[in-house]
Amino acid sequence: MSAEALQGDPGLVPGRECGTCHVCCVSLTINEPGLQKPQGYRCRNLQPGQGCTIYATRPPTCREFECGWRKLKWVRESLRPDKSAVLIKLHAEISKTTGQHSMGIAVTLLDASALKAEGLAETVAAAVAADIPVYLHVPGPPGYTASQAKVNDALRHAVVTKDKAALLGILKLARAKGMAGKHVPIVMKPPAG
Ligand code: SF4
Ligand code: SF4
Repeated sequence: MSAEALQGDPGLVPGRECGTCHVCCVSLTINEPGLQKPQGYRCRNLQPGQGCTIYATRPPTCREFECGWRKLKWVRESLRPDKSAVLIKLHAEISKTTGQHSMGIAVTLLDASALKAEGLAETVAAAVAADIPVYLHVPGPPGYTASQAKVNDALRHAVVTKDKAALLGILKLARAKGMAGKHVPIVMKPPAG
């Protein structure tokens, strides 16, 4: 696998349906005229047993979002977000030196159990081995900003030596560091117009 695996629109992986997963309806920050919700809070339109009650008219943030588990076939099947507590998002970045656009992934470990998720280490290792930028995304408490750090360099030795325990240990430390970092309340600013 190479970084090209992330370029362009990879579409959706056949057979990977959201089903009863609603992780993004809690984890995303939505700041649109019709719906404002900071990360960590369950959307008011998500009702038990019904899913999204405004599905046909849901805001663009919801329409446009598909998580990495749905879009990237090399993300392990076992990492459906509600079953693994791992949320992977595509992460666009622009090189400060060349101005080139590239795609990476942001990996959120929603709680401590995510570190035990089957396929987490293998998925992260595959991305690092392919030089795909990998960011560990650590949300603050509900309503607070997240911290995010690129972990490729920190993980490279563990990937090369195939040391799964070391890789998971580094992710655990990085998550703890991110949780202890600065998180400030998210301020909702409605788009102009
Ligand atoms: S997190 Fe992914 S699988 Fe879960 S509801 Fe959102 S898009 Fe679907
Ligand atoms: S509007 Fe619907 S799809 Fe969007 S976050 Fe709320 S429940 Fe989920």
